[in-house]
Amino acid sequence: MFEKLKILTDAAKYDVACTSSGVDRVSDGNGIGSAASCGICHTFSADGRCVSLLKILMTNVCAYDCAYCVNRVSNDVPRATFTPREIADLTINFYRRNYIEGLFLSSAVISNPTRTTELMTEALRILRDEYRFYGYIHAKAIPGADPEALYSLGLYADRMSVNIELPSEKSLNLLAPNKTRNAIIAPMAQIRDGIKESSRAVAKYRHAPRFVPAGQSTQMIVGASGESDYQILNLTESLYGKYNLKRVFFSAYVPTVSSSLLPSVETKPPLLREHRLYQADWLLRYYGFAASELLDEGENFNLYLDPKCNWALAHLEFFPVNVNRAPYEMLLRVPGVGVTGAKRIVAARRTRSLDMSALKRMGVVLKRAKYFIECGERNGEIKMTENAIIRSLLSDVSYSRLTAKQISFFDEPEPEAGKEEEIKALLGQF
Ligand code: SF4
Repeated sequence: MFEKLKILTDAAKYDVACTSSGVDRVSDGNGIGSAASCGICHTFSADGRCVSLLKILMTNVCAYDCAYCVNRVSNDVPRATFTPREIADLTINFYRRNYIEGLFLSSAVISNPTRTTELMTEALRILRDEYRFYGYIHAKAIPGADPEALYSLGLYADRMSVNIELPSEKSLNLLAPNKTRNAIIAPMAQIRDGIKESSRAVAKYRHAPRFVPAGQSTQMIVGASGESDYQILNLTESLYGKYNLKRVFFSAYVPTVSSSLLPSVETKPPLLREHRLYQADWLLRYYGFAASELLDEGENFNLYLDPKCNWALAHLEFFPVNVNRAPYEMLLRVPGVGVTGAKRIVAARRTRSLDMSALKRMGVVLKRAKYFIECGERNGEIKMTENAIIRSLLSDVSYSRLTAKQISFFDEPEPEAGKEEEIKALLGQF
């Protein structure tokens, strides 16, 4: 059983629809706890609690051959399969020992998507109906499964996700020939409609069955195919709009297989690119930005500046913003001002005029915001030109951060260019 657990929790680690630490620290025998425990990860429930989950695949025996995936049928890796009862027993035993509070269940495709979904449903049925388990469950929907099978799974799960995997149909056809765009989009639409119907029914009848009450999410691989950040962000925006997704997760492609269709195995995962996409995703969801404002067609994000700073520098005509008069929506667009900061500014300025020290007390990051705001005592030290602001912003960034092209778990080689050259490169001043 432990061998199966090792294989199937390891196989689940590439799924980022919930977050895990990636640390492999183990106890030396004199302490308690182990960050290396198989498959424990964390997620946030609808009421904001952080819950630990057993993150596991039902099987890694897959009938499909997605080029980017370690579990593809043509890859030679150790294989294992849990029965539905084994999954339920593991979860309930881990729960009783206080290791976990919930389950994240995914699976490779056993013979076909409908059969896989039925087996996953059976595991959740045993957990919910036989063991009376009320904890959080996140289940992956398998694209191509019969809608009835999918609906049954959704009645037991709190959250579901359908991985969109690749940002375009062209890449999907190339790298995941067994999957089609329609097979991925159809369950997303079904889950969206099922959630709506279920909320209407629950509003009328208290005991109506609840379908996926914590909503749905998806995951996209970044860097396995050639799509730009512009394409990825536009797709993200449209997924939020059309399918009411709670989250779109981005997963920097980790090269594990040699294929002429994929980046070489020596390529480092584009973690900084993934980070910029998460920042931009935040701007779409909480700051009122549209994808088309953040990037032009074919563009990728600037790896040196966060997307909000980048936007502000490209739109200096809107700045400086007067913090004592500007509308809330404009305050949100000031680098260094977050949602909480903007709300505090609007509340506080009703009774008094705000100055820089008041803004600092409210949590505004003046190191960034000072170039874009005025409040009667405008910071006059720095001329408001794009280059001057970039130069000044980057002088706050440490040398190692400035020269690092990519966040790495391993030692970086010595940078070739000096700090001054890096800034010049960024400003286009070779
Ligand atoms: S369906 Fe594709 S991505 Fe999913 S486990 Fe099988 S090979 Fe991997």
